[in-house]
Amino acid sequence: MIQNTILFSIVFLLFSSCFKGKHVELIVHNAQIHTIDEANHIYDAMAIKNGKIIEVGPERQILNKYSSDQEIDAGGKDIFPGFTDAHGHILSLAQQKLNLDLTNCLSFDELMVRLEKYEQKTHKKFIIGRGWDQSLWNQQTMPNNDKINLLYPQTPICLYRIDGHAVLVNDALLKLAKINEHTKIEGGQIELKNGKCTGLLIDNAILPILKILPKYTTTEIQEAILEIQDELVQYGITGVHEAGINNDDIALFEKLINAKKLKINVYAMLNPSEKNFDFAKKKGIYKNKNLSIRSFKVMGDGALGSHGAYLKKAYSDKINHFGALTTSEDFMNRIASVCELTGYQMNTHCIGDATNSLVFNIYKKLNEINKDHRSRIEHAQIIDPKDITLFAEYGVFPSVQPTHAVSDQRWVEKRIGIERLKGAYAYRSILASYGMLAIGTDFPVENIDPFLTIHAAVQRKNIENTPLNGFLPQESISLDDCIRGMTIWAAYASFQEKQLGSLEKGKDATFVIFENKVESTPNYQPNFAYMTFINGQKIYSVE
Ligand SMILES: [Zn+2]
Repeated sequence: MIQNTILFSIVFLLFSSCFKGKHVELIVHNAQIHTIDEANHIYDAMAIKNGKIIEVGPERQILNKYSSDQEIDAGGKDIFPGFTDAHGHILSLAQQKLNLDLTNCLSFDELMVRLEKYEQKTHKKFIIGRGWDQSLWNQQTMPNNDKINLLYPQTPICLYRIDGHAVLVNDALLKLAKINEHTKIEGGQIELKNGKCTGLLIDNAILPILKILPKYTTTEIQEAILEIQDELVQYGITGVHEAGINNDDIALFEKLINAKKLKINVYAMLNPSEKNFDFAKKKGIYKNKNLSIRSFKVMGDGALGSHGAYLKKAYSDKINHFGALTTSEDFMNRIASVCELTGYQMNTHCIGDATNSLVFNIYKKLNEINKDHRSRIEHAQIIDPKDITLFAEYGVFPSVQPTHAVSDQRWVEKRIGIERLKGAYAYRSILASYGMLAIGTDFPVENIDPFLTIHAAVQRKNIENTPLNGFLPQESISLDDCIRGMTIWAAYASFQEKQLGSLEKGKDATFVIFENKVESTPNYQPNFAYMTFINGQKIYSVE
């Protein structure tokens, strides 16, 4: 793979500064530097000082003008601004690493095998797992807890579905959480069969469980976060919009940042709790080094996979079932008023067409007060086609995850019918309306690999290259636009466009030299960072 390692020698020109040019900290040259500036310039070289880009330009221009003790010959490789995942969950992925991993279980039996092995290995008194997805199983029906109860009548067990919008728990845990067939929950569902709980809890029905889950220590979580950071930078990801954190988590991130351990840029959205409202009112728009806090993440509805997304007409595969809002309209309006007061951005998870319409109306009011509110709709999955122009009309920033489209393609038509597919995962139409997209993965729901995102956005295919002609291929976007969505548009979506997102004079020297050419081909081609730099510092190298 690395046929031209020799080309990547870092040359230390010890005395060069005495002879020529302005001294800088780092010169990168012989590269294809995709600046992602307005005109999409590609240059050969750039000079870096104090973590910022001093100049980008043709090879000779940069090499004649500047000198440095550290020069990198990039061997003609592609360089891009560091990618941002505009919607991810570092903390959930950290939890997943610390818990029983159920991703890619191909049957319920496999889930049971993994559960037993984990219990035998760890002897945990309370088991939490995450990642099952019934759509990968033969039957594709939602599981129940019968088998788990037989094996584990005492040990509480909580197994999250891949999307985090449903859990399967055993009777021992239902009892502990005081949930039974008579419990009433708004914005959620306790599944029953023959009048008895099946152990499946959807959306807000999970809340009583959350209160009694055992907590990991700060050290355990921080170690998992740093492990995730290592994985992210290997893919060239240097920033994450962390979609929803609790008040306690702010301190956790701050500790890592003050200790200079967390290198990536974290744009953290606050969950709308009273404590977080107080934080916003007291601190206002907040920045501590590479941590920014100036937004709220609102859960508008559930997920399609667990029939929780709120639709205008009933689900095609569940009679009289519409899904539901998980945050009431009143409370959403209250969050909007806090945003108006504090200058915070409102970022709402909207999957179903009913939720999208309702949230457009809330944002309409914000837009009348401030045209640059950049309120975001996260996911924008099923949109009533007549609402698509509202992104432009009300200044609503769309934040989408192309891998969701190619994961859901296996079952979504059955869920919502062919008619509603017209406004489903309609990234090209949405882009045509607003002119920008913030692009992410929603990890750990999907893989963090940005090249899977590119494959899904451009080819509309999953890692197995299906479907052959792409899923709803008329909604594919170009490679250029997809990369903009992970760089400069993600920077706009987080009010950081003056600092991040393109390689231009005065911006952060946060960039990635990629191992292979960055392109989109009909078959998925893996690609990785060869070197990743944040603020002029090399934080990852293949060697
Ligand atoms: Zn999410």
